[in-house]
Amino acid sequence: MKKVLIVGAGIAGCSAALAFARSGGWDVSVIEKQPQWQFQSSGIFVYSNGLEHFHQIGAMEDLVRAGFPIPSGRNVYLHHDGRHIVDVTYPSVGSPPMPPILGVKRAEMHRVLSSQLDALGVPVHLGTTVQALQQGDAHADVRFADGSTASFDLVVGADGIRSGVRALLWPEVQPTYSGFGVWRSVHRRPPELVDKIMMMGVGKRLGIMPISDEKLYIFGTVAEPQGAWFDKARWPETMRERFAEFGGPVRPFLDEISPDTEVLYTAVEEVVMPLPWHQGRVVLIGDAAHASTPFMGQGGALAVQDAVELARLLADDAPVPTALATFGERRAPVCRFVQEASHRVGRAGAEQDPLRHAQAMQAMPASAQLHVDDFYRQLHRLSEQR
Ligand SMILES: Cc1cc2nc3c(=O)[nH]c(=O)nc-3n(C[C@H](O)[C@H](O)[C@H](O)COP(=O)(O)OP(=O)(O)OC[C@H]3O[C@@H](n4cnc5c(N)ncnc54)[C@H](O)[C@@H]3O)c2cc1C
Repeated sequence: MKKVLIVGAGIAGCSAALAFARSGGWDVSVIEKQPQWQFQSSGIFVYSNGLEHFHQIGAMEDLVRAGFPIPSGRNVYLHHDGRHIVDVTYPSVGSPPMPPILGVKRAEMHRVLSSQLDALGVPVHLGTTVQALQQGDAHADVRFADGSTASFDLVVGADGIRSGVRALLWPEVQPTYSGFGVWRSVHRRPPELVDKIMMMGVGKRLGIMPISDEKLYIFGTVAEPQGAWFDKARWPETMRERFAEFGGPVRPFLDEISPDTEVLYTAVEEVVMPLPWHQGRVVLIGDAAHASTPFMGQGGALAVQDAVELARLLADDAPVPTALATFGERRAPVCRFVQEASHRVGRAGAEQDPLRHAQAMQAMPASAQLHVDDFYRQLHRLSEQR
């Protein structure tokens, strides 16, 4: 049996482990740097194109049970004060058709993925990492942090934006700061709040997303200069200040933020890495290869799609380096497209000029649905290209 080592047990790594384990023919091990499962995030939303791939690795139904699906696919756009702009409907792709949007607590997503790995008997070694990698023709030899060594037919670097695998083989590739910070907090969900809501402020966006029957999270993006730093002890207060001008449905949540509220701030970085995404028998997937700004909410989908595509390409007898080259050629155009679309949305959201902001909002009723439809059409076309 061929042996694969997956480095990193995030969305990409857990999904890849499930995809390889279910494809048969692979002895799968996962290593994860953190000594215990812990997740620096409140919630995540996944659109149907990502859920379709979670379905393929057998995790979609459990995820839907753990989270909050929006069967209507409705995303309500509001002005910062709560006045209505337009409703947009996200598509339901896949076979069978997937829920158009699912909100889920990140810890719940990882609980689902890790318990499925458990059920398949895939070992996840917490608290360790790769210290060195050496490649011959037939194997990649790995030295782990504890000094032990092992040989693998394939090593998958799924270790996120600050990938240690990437640092070993592509030290020249570094994350770059996107110019944006994202604030998030978790709240009790009032029963009537069942849609995804995006509120459009001048130079700021603030979203509301249900993540379970009991909870929702709010997430706000704002342009921040490089190196902007906020005292963690004051994050709740700073989040309230940053979005002070927002009213409408988000106001009660902003008002209830207190020093006890779980608030997170992230200075968003991205990774734009030219091909190849592999060297010999080592390949990068997920954020390690193509971390994107979060404006399209597609990073999780890209990670699980990478995992499914990689396992599919390696299911037949093609030499590993050839399959890895094909993997990069297929996935790079899709990931690049998402990164560029996300840039455009981020730039538009950062518009500080009130007049230009007002003009953009006026155009939204006619254009917003067309943009969504066009994005999914192009994403589908690029994903299907062989
Ligand atoms: C603010 C923000 C909001 C976002 N919101 C969304 C959203 O709503 N929807 C969406 O789809 N995407 C969203 N994204 C993007 C999404 O979070 C990422 O694209 C996704 O988590 C990538 O998964 P990954 O497994 O590649 O990386 P990660 O989730 O970062 O996982 C990497 C794993 O590798 C481990 N690791 C790191 N280094 C090592 C090492 N050296 N050795 C071993 N293990 C290691 C880490 O501990 C981690 O467990 C958002 C991103 C940000 C920044």
